[in-house]
Amino acid sequence: MISVEQALDRVLSYFEVLDGEEKPILHCLGQVLDEDVYSPISVPPLDNAAMDGYALQARSARGATPAAPRLLDVIGEVSAGMMAEQEVGPGQAMRIMTGAPLPPGADSVVRFEDTDEALRPQRPLTQIGVFRQIPRGENVRRAGEDIASGQLVLERGTLLRPQEVGVLASIGRTTALVIRRPRVAILATGDELVEIGQPLPRGKIYNSNSFSIASQVARYGGIPQILGIAGDRVDEIEAKIGEALDSDLLLTSGGVSVGQYDLVKDVLAQQGEISFWTVRMKPGKPLAFGVIHGHDRKVPHLGLPGNPVSSMITFELFARPAILKMMGRKNLSKPMVRATMESRVTNTDGRRIFARVMVRREGERYFARLTGPQGSGILTSMARANALAIVPEEVKEVKEGETLDVLMLDWEE
Ligand code: AMP
Ligand code: MG
Repeated sequence: MISVEQALDRVLSYFEVLDGEEKPILHCLGQVLDEDVYSPISVPPLDNAAMDGYALQARSARGATPAAPRLLDVIGEVSAGMMAEQEVGPGQAMRIMTGAPLPPGADSVVRFEDTDEALRPQRPLTQIGVFRQIPRGENVRRAGEDIASGQLVLERGTLLRPQEVGVLASIGRTTALVIRRPRVAILATGDELVEIGQPLPRGKIYNSNSFSIASQVARYGGIPQILGIAGDRVDEIEAKIGEALDSDLLLTSGGVSVGQYDLVKDVLAQQGEISFWTVRMKPGKPLAFGVIHGHDRKVPHLGLPGNPVSSMITFELFARPAILKMMGRKNLSKPMVRATMESRVTNTDGRRIFARVMVRREGERYFARLTGPQGSGILTSMARANALAIVPEEVKEVKEGETLDVLMLDWEE
């Protein structure tokens, strides 16, 4: 048996960052930039008003107070999207709306609230009283203050979150070069499995793994390709694996233990190389990793255990980092916190336990409580969990009140 770290190192050594693809920016969320992005324009392109008010020369308001306002001649109005042609000279003001380019001659904007506009009922206004002296540049957003023309805005390797997608749009980019998403083929194995939408004969169960695993793949940015179910027969498994040869990763579930019908590992041994079989962890001890030889390429294959909880946890620990590595992500691990246990956990066979817990925060501290019976077939124990509490291999018992490292699956409650 090998440790979780050894297994992860070996799995990751089989994966490289994938190539780039040019796509509309709206489809790039969660992908990593494969180019340095320079801006062809300044943002904002022109000096403009940060507030609704009056554009003026700051010196025209020198010495102004509410008791002794400076009177300025109003020469016009400019709204966002318009260009004012008229020049604002000394003693003059132009009504201006937020985002409108500053008219020529003006260097500042005084807010409506700092003028007597509200006290003057006549429209259009010909004069305005300013209540305060203002520094030059007040309420003006400078051209290029966000992004200068020619500037490196986003570096290659940047993860595109909603804000980066917005930055790309702000410089007028319609597409970006990003590292492509991996195609992940998913195959369920087992004679007992039936697809959802079908009646459930006695002795059968619904194939849930394909759906939990495909959802995990999609959640972390991969493109799931569900291959369906292969019964416990070598020819069926081989035929299905044949459909996965153009994918970047094949995930199977089931068929990797020591039972008579656990054939996935036999097929893998014939069609490729096996990297390892068992990891010192619980759940998830039977785990296979290897490479399938296609005609012109090799497809990494992770054989997840069949038990629904085990397959999801081994996915989190091994498939997720592999997918993120292919996508060019740098941080491959999920956040970990130290939590006080509110349940007792025992560890009888010297493996690392990943216990399903619900973590909550109280003030500065985290508390974790088991989500019920921990059988690896009890998928609702995952559905109730937001984290996995990690009991080290050598620890035999964790009592209530002791602390453990907890791997957060989700931050939402
Ligand atoms: P195996 O690893 O094939 O021995 O499967 C272990 C357990 O997981 C058995 O109880 C299977 O019935 C169950 N199992 C295997 N594949 C699936 C699946 N796709 N969906 C739900 N349960 C499964
Ligand atoms: Mg099976």
